[in-house]
Amino acid sequence: MATAPAVRHIALVAHDNKKVELLRWAEFNRGTLSRHQLYSTGTTGTMLEFELGLKVHRFLSGPVGGDQQIGAKIAEGGIDTLIFFWDPLEPQPHDPDVKALLRIATVWNAPMACNVATADLVISSPLLEDPQYANQRPDLSPRGWDGSRPV
Ligand code: PGA
Repeated sequence: MATAPAVRHIALVAHDNKKVELLRWAEFNRGTLSRHQLYSTGTTGTMLEFELGLKVHRFLSGPVGGDQQIGAKIAEGGIDTLIFFWDPLEPQPHDPDVKALLRIATVWNAPMACNVATADLVISSPLLEDPQYANQRPDLSPRGWDGSRPV
């Protein structure tokens, strides 16, 4: 019996100089993206909704807490994939939040694409919709005083 394709929880974020690049990429991949649950920082999400008609859960704008909200969702397991076109050529006022988001996605082993080439590979991977596949989340539950983890 055929099983239903997996629905991933994908966050899309782009810095201002990268928004057009993300929009073009999302437009090309609109069909695939529309089969998943999408999340975005405020301005990126508004752009995806209004330009492409995608249904997106919008957080705050990145510089006022949106990156941190997405990071928290990744830590909780509510977002499993991150497409993050950050700008390597322009300083950002919320650079600590940008670093924190990159860090927390790495901590939780979330697939993370920071440029178009990697995003192309992530979105076209057969594993994306394979219900047998889920990226392994490390066991990071708090340790007891003796170093053991609760069972
Ligand atoms: P924005 O935030 O989508 O609200 O512009 C992006 C970011 O700077 O992280």
